[in-house]
Amino acid sequence: AAAAEELIIPPVQINYTQNLINGQFVDAVSGKTFPTYDPRTGEVIAHVAEGDAEDINRAVAAARKAFDEGPWPRMTAYERSRILLRFADLVEKHSDELAALETWNNGKPYEQAAKSELPLFIRLFHYYAGWADKIHGLTVPADGDYHVQTLHEPIGVAGQIIPWNFPLVMFAWKVGPALACGNTIVLKTAEQTPLTALFVAKLFHEAGLPPGVLNIVSGFGPTAGAALASHMDVDKLAFTGSTDTGKIVLELAARSNLKPVTLELGGKSPFIVCEDADVDKAVELAHFALFFNQGQCCCAGSRTYVHERVHDEFLEKAKARAVRRVVGDPFKKGVEQGPQIDTEQFEKVLRYIRAGIKSNATLECGGDRFGSKGYFIQPTVFSNVQDDMLIAQDEIFGPVQSIFKFKDLDEVIRRANATRYGLAAGVFTRNLDTANTLTRALRAGTVWINCFDVFDAAIPFGGYKMSGIGREKGIYSLNNYLQVKAVITPLKKAAW
Ligand code: ADP
Repeated sequence: AAAAEELIIPPVQINYTQNLINGQFVDAVSGKTFPTYDPRTGEVIAHVAEGDAEDINRAVAAARKAFDEGPWPRMTAYERSRILLRFADLVEKHSDELAALETWNNGKPYEQAAKSELPLFIRLFHYYAGWADKIHGLTVPADGDYHVQTLHEPIGVAGQIIPWNFPLVMFAWKVGPALACGNTIVLKTAEQTPLTALFVAKLFHEAGLPPGVLNIVSGFGPTAGAALASHMDVDKLAFTGSTDTGKIVLELAARSNLKPVTLELGGKSPFIVCEDADVDKAVELAHFALFFNQGQCCCAGSRTYVHERVHDEFLEKAKARAVRRVVGDPFKKGVEQGPQIDTEQFEKVLRYIRAGIKSNATLECGGDRFGSKGYFIQPTVFSNVQDDMLIAQDEIFGPVQSIFKFKDLDEVIRRANATRYGLAAGVFTRNLDTANTLTRALRAGTVWINCFDVFDAAIPFGGYKMSGIGREKGIYSLNNYLQVKAVITPLKKAAW
């Protein structure tokens, strides 16, 4: 469908391209830079310092010193909370520019970045600022004449590796809880999207964050990322990305210093439309569940299971909705879908579409690139998809909806769970018994009933099976960044 015409680009400049180490912007030790692109055109928009092992060493040394000697873990929790709140206020002040920079570097619709992701980012820092002074241990009624208490202490230097699909939101999920608990951080951004993290990290320092507490290194996975995962002086690793890379970083962490690791990985989430569904609403929600963010969501509802009673009507309407999807310049008002992130993802999605056609799934619409430049792909719908097809099993990470038909609940439960992933699931029904049955039977870290992609800061997120280890957001994320120390004191004069 044609896009509306009005461009909405707030003025934005690229001011920060160096690594941020110990509160200073610095070039890479090697002096190297790498280009970062505008996915609308494939044009270079900036050259960014290319960090590798040596830059990670310097960043970890700064974070170590800030943790061992700096004020951050020693200041009152209330003071830390105030800095998080001041930071959130500064982000709010700059949110139009940040949303524009996010769109420029990532390709997501500007309206989505500005109206949904920046508010989520700010809300998350408010949420964890609220936790900072509410983290405390327990008094334990142990046997014997002992006074026993637990201290909840920050774990130390946190290494964090984030992906490119939600550069700012991923920054928030990682940095918010780690700082609320009093840790220091070295964060490596994704090589595709280095820009917004540098901007917000600068704002964090303006808000009063002491130097060395939050260090940002731009660079590639096998160099900078691997150096961080295997660093002997990093006390905890948090990773979001593909399952294959998750296995690599878990192994690097184990082989080095056995740092605990949380992983948020891939998915192949079912979206189940039950026989009682209001078809129009189900179509709209299933469409959103898959196509949101160009389909580049780890929790995308990428297996749309539709009950046979409503299947044909659903299919016609889902196809019509995909055809109506507004693809175009993400800076234009009303645009729903921008380009994929880069040429590699673009080619990969097109390969999966060809595999779908070859395996005899029915291509209902789309199936090719959109336009002639940049990484745009037509909204694509396949029907007659069978569970053993490649497009039914692999994470495509693009605007490709696969529609499956089912007959009864037991069958759809079995099929929905027959995947190596377990990140999320969607259920669309008005029947409470059906909703309860599916909720309990689905092996996934999130079940959205009659909604999808609700990402409130208080709601834990993470995967079963090969979708990951641990949970982010909410109260659950605090445990990732705390050590528990048991302290035992005799109540009476000790026998010795
Ligand atoms: P994608 O395939 O979507 O780009 P990745 O899992 O490769 O997902 O990337 C997610 C993050 O992991 C990025 O920051 C990337 O640089 C990083 N990464 C990639 N390979 C490695 C690696 N071998 N070690 C550590 N980090 C890596």
